[in-house]
Amino acid sequence: MTAWDKEVDVLVVGADAGGMTAAITAHIEGCTVLLAEKTDRIGGSTAISGGAVWAPLNSQSAKAGHPDSFEKAWTYMRNTVGDAAPEAMQRAFLASSAAAVDFLEKNTEVQLAARTYSPDYYPDREGAAMGGRSLDPRMFDGRLLGAHFRELRDPLPEFMVLGGMMITMTDANHLLAVTRSFTSWKEGMKLVLRFFGDRLRGYHRGTRLVLGNALAARLFKTVLDRRIDYWLDAPLKKLLVESGRVAGAVIERDGKPMRVRAKRGVVVATGGFPWSADLRARLYPQPTGPWSMSPRDNAGEGIEMARAAGATLGKDFFAPAFWAPVSILERPDGTQLRYPHLVWDRAKPGLMAVNAAGQRFVNESTSYHEFVLGMYRSHQQVPTLPAFLVCDSDFMERWGLGLALPGGRPREHLVRAGYLFRADSLDALAASLGIDAGGLKASAQRFNHFAETGVDSEFGKGSTAYNRYLGDAAHQPNACLGPLRKGPFYAVKVYAGDIGTACGIRCNENAQALDTDDRPIPGLYAAGNDMQSVMGGQYPAPGITLGPALTFGWIAGRHAAQHATQPQAALEIA
Ligand SMILES: Cc1cc2nc3c(=O)[nH]c(=O)nc-3n(C[C@H](O)[C@H](O)[C@H](O)COP(=O)(O)OP(=O)(O)OC[C@H]3O[C@@H](n4cnc5c(N)ncnc54)[C@H](O)[C@@H]3O)c2cc1C
Repeated sequence: MTAWDKEVDVLVVGADAGGMTAAITAHIEGCTVLLAEKTDRIGGSTAISGGAVWAPLNSQSAKAGHPDSFEKAWTYMRNTVGDAAPEAMQRAFLASSAAAVDFLEKNTEVQLAARTYSPDYYPDREGAAMGGRSLDPRMFDGRLLGAHFRELRDPLPEFMVLGGMMITMTDANHLLAVTRSFTSWKEGMKLVLRFFGDRLRGYHRGTRLVLGNALAARLFKTVLDRRIDYWLDAPLKKLLVESGRVAGAVIERDGKPMRVRAKRGVVVATGGFPWSADLRARLYPQPTGPWSMSPRDNAGEGIEMARAAGATLGKDFFAPAFWAPVSILERPDGTQLRYPHLVWDRAKPGLMAVNAAGQRFVNESTSYHEFVLGMYRSHQQVPTLPAFLVCDSDFMERWGLGLALPGGRPREHLVRAGYLFRADSLDALAASLGIDAGGLKASAQRFNHFAETGVDSEFGKGSTAYNRYLGDAAHQPNACLGPLRKGPFYAVKVYAGDIGTACGIRCNENAQALDTDDRPIPGLYAAGNDMQSVMGGQYPAPGITLGPALTFGWIAGRHAAQHATQPQAALEIA
């Protein structure tokens, strides 16, 4: 007979959006739960993310001015995801995402606000919405976590200002306009005073939490309030299978293997495989590299162990990861700082992207996922990994470029470190980047012409509502098109990074892992990026990884609690 060190109803591995939602749901359903997290911090990539949650048909979308219908949202999913993911899974997501959000809002600390205007990423496709489907976590006061605030993963330093103050895009716009608008000055002062107050009180960073950090904090606060047992520094080492059922797992704690019996099931939510060099080499297009924005701890362990227990990987997906162009600063101490060019600089007027021939290859204001798809397409003809984001000095002062901040802030260190390239002429810039100068100058000339006419006849920069949403509304005739005219000129190199993986464990509508014969493996569930993405590696809208993570985490927690009883006989077989 198996000797167990601990027994619970549900064991969840990975303390993140998918994992914490599953743990909280199972607990609310009356189960005993253990949440095991590999690192010393709660939150995974959820805590460093933008926090957008795509949950069509949510109860706030009509109030946000965007009444929706199942048919409309379904049409959009078919027009974007299509056959890249099983239809039944797509239907299960659409049928449940609003209910999952309602459940969380009613029973937990999670609170989300609908974006009134936030176009889906393909706004011209039938079924797209201009807002309401994406929700943002409401600001959370980190002080409410007490001493546990230290256990929450910190956001990316790249996305904080003053060495620890979180800001949203709205906050950033206020801070950039403090000298031009009294409202912005007031908002900016409030932010800064709160932040310095936090630092004076001894907090290691600001406690006004927004974006994905607020989502992770809200889930964590619920875990604490419900007294759900959680172990930090406790990686999953092995799933234990007995009579064809996942009966528990080995979790390492204080260096010792602990056999945890999970009577109703194990939910793996270890955040996919962006840092598994082996899975990346097998599943990513080539060339690939260590360019992911996800924490390095997301190394495919949950996926590999589920496979060892009989689970299978998803297939027929469109892309294995959720792509994002990433620039990388090599620090003097040998560490790296990565910057994902998601929603800030690429769409602004005056930024142009080129390949090694100095030629444009993509609509710069398209989604981060489409941008990298464009890099791979172009790379088949002309070296485009890395690609180069280029701008002039007016752009730099107004918007900044990656880690280089606007408004005359210091950037010499970035030039010295080889992150930021700067030259007085486009010829000299091309030489320092090692790319074709004639190509770059010709591209800039055409780009400047498009800036005048407002129409990019080559790649359509600024041609969709989504493009313009991220541009500069005050800039005419096109919110995304401005000239490159005034030196010095600047550039950064961007690589084909990702913000998580899309290929994962194949599951059914109950989030149960499937074996090679499409049968659910009793006792084994997946959530978050450990689960094959219901978007099949397409990226239809903001929040399409966290929306499914919350939805299928909720489904997994409920199903394990309500259906998955473990036969006693099976448990007694060693
Ligand atoms: C900069 C950035 C911005 C993003 N913005 C958005 C956004 O706005 N909207 C959106 O939908 N998506 C966004 N994403 C993607 C999103 O963050 C991820 O897809 C999502 O958080 C994945 O959640 P998860 O629950 O699968 O895993 P994660 O949140 O990554 O967590 C995995 C957890 O499992 C733990 N773990 C790993 N191995 C083990 C093990 N062996 N045992 C126990 N625990 C283990 C990890 O330490 C980690 O805590 C963004 C990502 C980044 C990097």
